[in-house]
Parts: sequence; C-alpha cells; structure tokens
Amino acid sequence: MTDYIFKPNIPVAKIHNSNELFPIHRVFCVGRNYADHAIEMGHDHREPPFFFMKPAHAINHNKKHPYPGATNNYHFEMELVVAIGSSGKDISVSSALDYVLGYACGIDFTRRDLQQEAKNKGRPWETGKALDHSGPISELVQLPKDFPIKDQIIRLEVNGEEKQSSTVGHMIWSVEEVISHLSSYFELQQGDLIFTGTPAGVGPVIIGDKVFGEVSGVGSIELEIV
Ligand code: MN
Repeated sequence: MTDYIFKPNIPVAKIHNSNELFPIHRVFCVGRNYADHAIEMGHDHREPPFFFMKPAHAINHNKKHPYPGATNNYHFEMELVVAIGSSGKDISVSSALDYVLGYACGIDFTRRDLQQEAKNKGRPWETGKALDHSGPISELVQLPKDFPIKDQIIRLEVNGEEKQSSTVGHMIWSVEEVISHLSSYFELQQGDLIFTGTPAGVGPVIIGDKVFGEVSGVGSIELEIV
C-alpha cells in the first residue's frame, strides 16, 4: 500500500449558498484585456491580449491581505473571474459558456515594480504576479447561461475613493473569446479559474488601506491591507 508522504493541501474556492467547495486546479490570467488599461501601462491597445498564470494557492477569501515583501509599489487590479466546470480544448466561441461553472470577482495583486523590471529585462513575471495571497476572490456564483455578464459594472475603491470603474463589455476579448483562445493553448480542466483582465485606474495600496471591489450581479470583495 502506498500513501502520500505528507497530506495534500488542495486549494479551494467557496461557492455561494452551497456547502460544496470548488477545488482549484490552475489560475490563468489575461493581460491587457481592457484598452484603457493597456494604454495607461504604456502599450499599444491594438495588440491582442495574452495569458500568464498564478499558482492555485494564491487564491483566497481572506479579509486581511498581507502587504508582501520585496516591493515598494504593490498594485490592485480588479477583475471578473470565470470558473471552469468541465474540461475541453479548442473550444468554439459559440459553445464557450457551456464550460463555465460560475463567476466571481477578484483582485490580481501585483508587485508592479518587479513586473516592470521583468518586462524591461525580458524576464518572466512570476515574482511580480505569482506571489503568495495575490488572488483574493469572492465566493463563486452560478448564473444562468443567458445572464448579461457584459453589462455588469466592474469597480474598485480604496478607502471609499473610486479608483476603477468600467463594464465587463469593455473587455477586448469577451468571456467566450477568452475561453476559446485559452483552450487553443491548454486543455481546460474542471477547477481552472480565469482572471479576465482589469480596466484602467490601477494603482498602489499601502498598509492600512481598505479595499472594496465588486462586479455587479456577481459579488464583491472587501479587505484590509495589513
Ligand atoms: Mn490583471
């Protein structure tokens, strides 16, 4: 008989109004999926979006968010998060929503200084993007397939002051297109999460800041930087 050498630690997301948990497999993120954010970061908004990843263990539901080491410029990025409920590859845009189990909202926290240094040197982004705790999310909600996700407001405030405000419809790649593109590179699996990109207005937080973000019709997230 064989056994694990230590107990597996499976990262999970909560599901709204359910005792069941969503075991997280992988976390994909879309870069520059809102034209106004691409422009604020100094990029050409006609360039197509792209993908990067966070580790599954970066996802959490914590109300206290630890300010990380190794940065002097730690940024919020409010995002719609899509949870994949069935596996598939080379998924068509027209069938993409069949693979969605639910939605959440989340913040793609970023060490912007390390990300910028990596960009400048042509190095990978992990120290800027894949850090511990860097993906707080709301509970997953299961919505009908015809729910008008593109009409939802995505916004974030710090200490009561609005920093980001847009609608999901401003995404360059829609939810369906994100799933279709991503599935041409990876066979999507149950348990995958996709952070779909952030609108303009990203900026730094410091210890003591209170952050509130929401995607209307989906959920909200509230945390304190500690
Ligand atoms: Mn992001």
